[in-house]
Amino acid sequence: AALVASSVSTIAEVWGDIMRAAGATERLLELLNSEPAIRNPSAPMALATPSTASIRLEKVSFYYPSKPDQAALDQISLEVKTGETVALIGPSGAGKTTLFQLLLRFYDIHEGSITINGQDIRSLSLSSLRNMIAIVPQDPVIFSANALENIRYGRPDASDEEIKRAAQAAQAHTFIEHLPQGYNTFLGERGTRLSGGQRQRIAIARAILKNAPILLLDEATSALDAESENLVQQGLDMAMQGRTTLIIAHRLATIQNADRIVVLEHGRIIETGTPHELRRQSGLYSRLAKLQLDIQP
Ligand code: ADP
Ligand code: MG
Repeated sequence: AALVASSVSTIAEVWGDIMRAAGATERLLELLNSEPAIRNPSAPMALATPSTASIRLEKVSFYYPSKPDQAALDQISLEVKTGETVALIGPSGAGKTTLFQLLLRFYDIHEGSITINGQDIRSLSLSSLRNMIAIVPQDPVIFSANALENIRYGRPDASDEEIKRAAQAAQAHTFIEHLPQGYNTFLGERGTRLSGGQRQRIAIARAILKNAPILLLDEATSALDAESENLVQQGLDMAMQGRTTLIIAHRLATIQNADRIVVLEHGRIIETGTPHELRRQSGLYSRLAKLQLDIQP
């Protein structure tokens, strides 16, 4: 015990010396308290982007640095096989968006592992990881640039022809052609403002253009008009073809063809199964389904 006590005091003294020598206590504390920067591993694996991908989360737990006593995700295990579509549903704050951020490695997890094609994502270079993933966010950003450049953002070396093909698949081509200068129309704050559904289709076109094996979709919460909703759904169906897809859904109608639905609450998986299986259980999903699906035609 004496030995332990003395080594502890030695460490404390040395630590104090370091701090005084550095003269930078506050700055160091600031660094320790701030969110850790995600860095490339020391020997990152730079992979050519594979054409298919499977995802596996194994007992993943994660806490935001500003909320160290509340797990945003708590022991999440989940597998999405190559080409599967898995839908995430659950109340606001359940951890759905967090899960996407962890897949993209905006934060590192505290327990468990996330692997893609069997490789821990922490061993990959950030660019190889992020090249494997296309995202359609809830509220896509439209840049102050023309329509062509706005879609090209999905893959900077794409030709105009490829961009137009992606726009066609995303159901964006027709509305773009009808803009005052077609694909050369300036968009964004100082240009033509797009509707929510149009912005989503631009984001879907970017994702299709990127041609990544993994697709992350965060469905818009705000209601789109009926026509837009239909076109967005058609665009999403194209984007999902042949890709491993995780979709955060707010409307259950969107995910009736999903291979599996995962219901999250307070960072935990509370139900999982096919749409059919979940409808027959008396959980959150079946309650939502009664509210949402029974009023569908
Ligand atoms: P969902 O997308 O299901 O609505 P989120 O993943 O956004 O849920 O949030 C999960 C939990 O993490 C919530 O308690 C939320 O308040 C918290 N959270 C989300 N983002 C942050 C952040 N940047 N810093 C701290 N807490 C956050
Ligand atoms: Mg969210």
